[in-house]
Amino acid sequence: MSQNILVINSGSSSIKFSLFDMTTEAERASGLAERLGSDEAVLTVKTANQKNTVELTESDYRSTLQVIISALTEAGLLETLPIAIGHRVVHGGEAFSDPVVITRDVMDKIRDCIPLAPLHNPANLAGIEAIEELYPAIPQVAVFDTAFHQTLAPEAYLYGVPYSLYTELKVRRYGFHGVSHKYVAAEAARRLGINDNHGIISAHLGNGCSAAAIVNGKSVDTTMGLTPLEGLVMGTRSGDVDPGLHQFLSQQKGWDIEKVTAVLNKESGMLGLSGLSNDMRTIEQAAGEGHAQAQLALDVFCFRLARQIGGLATSLPRFDALVFTGGIGENSRLIRAKVVANLKIFGFELDSELNANNGDELGRISAANGPNIVVVNTKEELMIAKESLALV
Ligand code: ADP
Repeated sequence: MSQNILVINSGSSSIKFSLFDMTTEAERASGLAERLGSDEAVLTVKTANQKNTVELTESDYRSTLQVIISALTEAGLLETLPIAIGHRVVHGGEAFSDPVVITRDVMDKIRDCIPLAPLHNPANLAGIEAIEELYPAIPQVAVFDTAFHQTLAPEAYLYGVPYSLYTELKVRRYGFHGVSHKYVAAEAARRLGINDNHGIISAHLGNGCSAAAIVNGKSVDTTMGLTPLEGLVMGTRSGDVDPGLHQFLSQQKGWDIEKVTAVLNKESGMLGLSGLSNDMRTIEQAAGEGHAQAQLALDVFCFRLARQIGGLATSLPRFDALVFTGGIGENSRLIRAKVVANLKIFGFELDSELNANNGDELGRISAANGPNIVVVNTKEELMIAKESLALV
């Protein structure tokens, strides 16, 4: 008898899902419903040997989730309803430092965090509410992107602004990508045999990018802050800028706060610097063909990442391992080589052959005499399924 868990990531105009059979931890299906709320809404469902796309005539959260569950049932993948549904929830504020079974009270607390994640939390909640209406008997679990970083000490999470902004509005650094950082650091520690005693920096490099310092399985510092805009240069997000930039742009360009925020979130990062694309593969290819701005974007991305890793390292008792993950971290030998070249001060050195192969059997890409550098493929959806199973 299979033990199915459905993992859902509901966004403002999309729902991503994965179905796991937890008796084997195998992913039985995955898919994406996108352009929800428009006339072009579509659902794609991938199984081991098939990929089907269907148009969605009604694409509110409830109808879409019903179609997803029907599609999985018709494909013979859901003999019975899932034993749990795990939701990725972006912001848990200070209320959640672990995954939780969703109750009315949990939903209220997720709602309280909407000011901290005004785009993501309402969409996450809409997915939870739709499932509650459709299948009230299925237990639901919330797994938060911020929870893993709740172990940061005040000196790591406070900004140098009036303390009253923290007490009144909870203005502080939260950090994100927690599910991924937790998993890849634990996996690297397991592979290297340093489970109980380690200082690790993990770099999650996808469309969004963040790095975290992890000591004995606990996050002690991370690059993202109040929002996922802080820290590293990303696909379309700027990462750190001088806070004075807002006033400068308002005065020089007449931009209001919405415009500045949109530019920093959607038109900056690799896209803004290169003038070409947010996609690292496109940038690498263009730089290889002599596109000067693409090269510049690569240089900035790697310089700033190395600089942040250097900063995070001050929170470690020892630097045992640097871990690369996410679409870029798992696949880009060029980015890994450029970043590591900027980290010579820590003694890091790459084995270029291992780097070209994305690592040895342990994922290691470091030269034998330097500290460990490891590539670990992240498994965020499976982690959400495992956390959900543990709670139901
Ligand atoms: P998301 O954050 O949306 O989950 P991913 O983790 O899938 O994104 O990462 C997407 C990024 O990974 C894109 O910038 C993509 O170009 C990059 N990427 C994927 N494969 C490669 C590769 N072989 N070389 C360089 N970059 C890659």
